[in-house]
Amino acid sequence: MAAIDSTATGLIPDPECALSQGRWVKLICGASNQDLPAIADLCAVFGAAGVHCVDVAADPAVVRAARQGFGWLAAQGLPVPWLMVSLSDGADAHFRKAWFDPKFCPADCSRPCERVCPAGAITSHLGILANRCYGCGRCLPACPRGLIQEHEHRLDADEIATSLAELRPDAIEIHTAPGRAEAFESVVSALASSAVPLRRLAVSCGLEGHGLTPPHLSWELWQRHHCLRRHRFRPLWQLDGRPMSGDVGSGTARAAVSLWRAMQPLAPPGPLQLAGGTNASTLSLLSWEERPAGIAFGGMARRLLMPLLLSAQDRGETLRESPQDWKKALDLAVSLVQPWLDRPLAGNSC
Ligand code: SF4
Ligand code: SF4
Repeated sequence: MAAIDSTATGLIPDPECALSQGRWVKLICGASNQDLPAIADLCAVFGAAGVHCVDVAADPAVVRAARQGFGWLAAQGLPVPWLMVSLSDGADAHFRKAWFDPKFCPADCSRPCERVCPAGAITSHLGILANRCYGCGRCLPACPRGLIQEHEHRLDADEIATSLAELRPDAIEIHTAPGRAEAFESVVSALASSAVPLRRLAVSCGLEGHGLTPPHLSWELWQRHHCLRRHRFRPLWQLDGRPMSGDVGSGTARAAVSLWRAMQPLAPPGPLQLAGGTNASTLSLLSWEERPAGIAFGGMARRLLMPLLLSAQDRGETLRESPQDWKKALDLAVSLVQPWLDRPLAGNSC
């Protein structure tokens, strides 16, 4: 069994306390990511690094994999993060998979699709491995022949209550978009009818791709707020600065911080968390007085560990079984998470 680095097991505030202190950290495994061995390891590594929540696809196999990682944490005596499951109230880039038929690819193609895929999902002969694809969309424009298609991958509203009763997560995230207040209400009603207790209901929305301004986004979020109040859910507002792009470059972090700054005076009550384009540079863009509730790391966090995850999978091992790689993976995860856990307090000591 791999050793735990003691730097990663310090005092981590409980999730609610972390939200109120601006120290909350969430790992996004990907609303369409079904790479089960990687998900179990990501949950274990980032859990050991101190994240308060892990967000995964609404898929029983994915949830089982996440719980394997959590079970491992519990066996080490480490705190277990909340499990959040992602849903959508309509078409959304987070809920899609890419596909192509490799038999139509010319033999001399230099395979740009493979090079741009951050998930290692495109292979020489098998096309796209659906379990690894999380729908980032980077391969779509990369193919000079236009062979790559996307297709939707999400639960219908009438599957939600049954699915929630089976998955029993601690929290839910709903990806929403302008003009979908009615569809949002249907999803929330389905969640309420399942009677599964939820600690928070996160609402994810941004400006990008919707042609919105901050006041428009605020109006949409206030509508969602009234809906959550009616059903007695506690909100968590996830501001999606630049969806699925934190691994593209440090500059993507600006979009998330700018959106948070613009929305802070306009948003409904409840914690406002950064996401979308977040990476290791995000914290340095905030002044000491600026206190978002915390941050969600997605593509950048997964990409950081991807070489270690893939090489463990090639050896038929998990990172948890590989002490050397575990240590490297944990150091990487801690480098991303710890600066948020260490943020000086701004008054609230819980
Ligand atoms: S580039 Fe993105 S959308 Fe394309 S296969 Fe890889 S993960 Fe899927
Ligand atoms: S870039 Fe297009 S043609 Fe080339 S390997 Fe990828 S899908 Fe096939």
